[in-house]
Amino acid sequence: MKAADLNRLELIGIDQKRGFPLFGASRMIMFGATSISRLQEDLYSSLGVERTKAILARFGYEAGMHLALSIQEMYHFDSPEEWLMSGAILRTMAGYAQEEITSFEMHAEEQRLIVSGIWRDSFEATIWKAKHSIASFPVCAILSGMASGFASTVLGKSVWVKETCCMAQGSEQCRFEGKDLVSWHTTEDVFKKHFSVDSLEERLRNTQEALNKAKADIDRQKIEISRLRLLTRKSTPNDEIIFRSQAMADLLDLAKKVAPTQSTILIQGESGVGKEVLARYIHAQSGQAKHPFVAINCAAVPAALLESELFGYVRGAFTGADKDKKGLFVAADNGTLFLDEIGDLPLDMQVKLLRVLQNKEVIPLGGTLPQSVNARIIAATNRNLKDLIKQGKFREDLYYRIAVFPLFIQPLRDRKQDIPILARHFLSIHQPRSMGFTPRAMRFLESYHWPGNIRELANWVEYAAVLAGENAVEIDHFPLHMAETPKEILPQLAVDFPSLQELERRYIEMVLQTCGQQKAEACRILGISPVTLWRKKKHPG
Ligand SMILES: [Zn+2]
Repeated sequence: MKAADLNRLELIGIDQKRGFPLFGASRMIMFGATSISRLQEDLYSSLGVERTKAILARFGYEAGMHLALSIQEMYHFDSPEEWLMSGAILRTMAGYAQEEITSFEMHAEEQRLIVSGIWRDSFEATIWKAKHSIASFPVCAILSGMASGFASTVLGKSVWVKETCCMAQGSEQCRFEGKDLVSWHTTEDVFKKHFSVDSLEERLRNTQEALNKAKADIDRQKIEISRLRLLTRKSTPNDEIIFRSQAMADLLDLAKKVAPTQSTILIQGESGVGKEVLARYIHAQSGQAKHPFVAINCAAVPAALLESELFGYVRGAFTGADKDKKGLFVAADNGTLFLDEIGDLPLDMQVKLLRVLQNKEVIPLGGTLPQSVNARIIAATNRNLKDLIKQGKFREDLYYRIAVFPLFIQPLRDRKQDIPILARHFLSIHQPRSMGFTPRAMRFLESYHWPGNIRELANWVEYAAVLAGENAVEIDHFPLHMAETPKEILPQLAVDFPSLQELERRYIEMVLQTCGQQKAEACRILGISPVTLWRKKKHPG
């Protein structure tokens, strides 16, 4: 049988039972060429050129393979060449394109093939042209795949038919070249990749894997960050300033402005308002944060030790000084030296400190060589230095040397807006799963006068967190037995010599305020019944 003897009418049969068209023994399905244009368009627009061409080429390749096998089964061709040529006739008969082989060179034994030809009115180029302008690439992917599949089956070895120019690109007709891979100077890998759609799934799989890996990395980093945060927190406790009040906002604005300068700063405020926290904040904002922050509480160190602590000593300066020791001024080099409770500094030390601040150098105990001092000094006190000056307990010249830039932290009772956010912050540290505070408990915290300021609030919340566990914190959970009676307000109650009746009214009001308007608690303190309290509030006296 020769390829030229193929008869279209004999090729197409009918499945007598079901009435389907048959090609050999295989069922055929008919689509109009234009109905394929929808599919072509959707594929290109959703998958892009490369993906679409790979999918269509693979579809064509499979079809070409089956066609080659079934035609050889139906007719036994005289030679592989005839078998191969039948492919061109079948593609024309099937309506794909009018195919014409223009050159042909085949060595079946060596499995070598070089063929070229023309496709006229390729269906793929035709439907492309009907919808689009000139294509920038050859569009006849099914046809190329089909010819490749057919030729590969005949040769028993991969043949790659490539379209060299396409009608969709503006040529009069499509042209193709087909060669075995050796003749193309290419490899099986490259060939398979061209006809493979696996790479899409592979790419998706790779992306998914990369995504999972990135997620795991992020999780690991989150854990590391929280671990580092914990470590940092340990080394600098309370390093963040938590506030809601305008007073604190204004204060921090000032602090931020003075931080980058070298000015000596004096922080004033009651005990527990967070003077060291502010000093650390200034250090962190100073631009010298990588240098040390060194703190010393002048009231806590015995006077005899203070000098050697601050200035250091050389070996043999005194009994027990068996080696040189750096003083804190030198230890804080380029950083910040925080002198807390400076109002408690003994007078003789005040003289020495003044000298250091003036000369910017220290002489260690027992030494003769001065060491230069580069530390920024932040002093703090809860005492009224001007009063101390009047009493002769603090040197006026030292005061003016350290109070270059004074900052005042208001007591907590004067900035009640800060109480809820601070209380919640401390609660979250001690009981991260807590339900928070009941409204009554929060009202109580806001009305208490906090003689110990933030430190006292922190202690109260820590205490309550233990008692309340994960439940909401109630008033009963606070260490009320530790609550100081507001001694300093008591004299104010009577400072204007009010009548007894007025004094009683004021006192009841104060107790109620202190208890966060908890009448039962107020009655307990006042030693009266709720009815009496009610009556007294309604009709004082
Ligand atoms: Zn084409």
